[in-house]
Amino acid sequence: MSGEHPQGRQGHGTVRLSREEQHGKSIFIDTTRCTACRGCQVACKQWHDHEAVPTKQTGTHQNPPDLTPNNFKLVRFSEHKIDGHVHWLFFPDQCRHCLQPACKATADMYVEDAIVVDEATGIVVCTEKTKELTKEQCDEIIDSCPYNIPRRNEISGELVKCDMCIDRVQAGLVPMCVKSCCTGAMSFGEREDMLIKAKLRLTEAQAEIERPKSELETKIVCDVHKSCTILDEEDLGVIYFLEMPREMYHQYAGREIKPLNRADFLAGLAKPFKNMLG
Ligand code: SF4
Ligand code: SF4
Ligand code: SF4
Repeated sequence: MSGEHPQGRQGHGTVRLSREEQHGKSIFIDTTRCTACRGCQVACKQWHDHEAVPTKQTGTHQNPPDLTPNNFKLVRFSEHKIDGHVHWLFFPDQCRHCLQPACKATADMYVEDAIVVDEATGIVVCTEKTKELTKEQCDEIIDSCPYNIPRRNEISGELVKCDMCIDRVQAGLVPMCVKSCCTGAMSFGEREDMLIKAKLRLTEAQAEIERPKSELETKIVCDVHKSCTILDEEDLGVIYFLEMPREMYHQYAGREIKPLNRADFLAGLAKPFKNMLG
């Protein structure tokens, strides 16, 4: 896609993007196209040379039950029965590569550049310097992430998470999970292009919900509870399109509003002085 025009057209409307929305690389995940094949989950493990870890059956196909230091990507499953219709929702979970990452703000209080943001792409990377953090400091960083993403490798002491396959991206390749997705649920590119794709998908989905349905369609398609959204798109490098309310997918699918942590508190204290200095 061209990066020249931060606009896209579809049907009646024009999608316009602010300047802040346009920077860096992004992944767009259309969860409605995800079949939960878990190809992305396995591809991520293979690319990062992550070992297999013992796991157990907990009554769901979601496996392992949560992100681990050896699983940067996890396809989350949730099942709901509404008005006699079964909704089986899939959510390929990973680091969102926040434009203002709370994990980095917290880490910088203890070890500068333990977590860095790559200037060219906006990718948020945990570095080897995270080994210098104590377990308590790592816990504080994990707690500051609104999406509950980083995990601590208890053997190496490192804090780890999805790095958007920065080695591949810097070599001009797409992230491994995107490459492996056979349904087209995942796309990768310039953030402005991914945002346009997401916003057009939203427009299309809303039009489909509003379209008058035949009696037969009404019986087999349950649109009543659909509420299409793009998750926190103004703040994230990984953009999700959902067709059901976010809380139906996963506790941390959307941003969790947390009480002020120490990093925010200190930033808040510094603000009036910064303002005075102009
Ligand atoms: S999702 Fe969490 S770990 Fe990823 S960049 Fe944002 S704050 Fe950091
Ligand atoms: S972008 Fe790379 S590191 Fe992140 S989930 Fe996908 S394969 Fe894993
Ligand atoms: S590879 Fe694509 S379809 Fe398969 S689980 Fe991942 S996102 Fe879903």
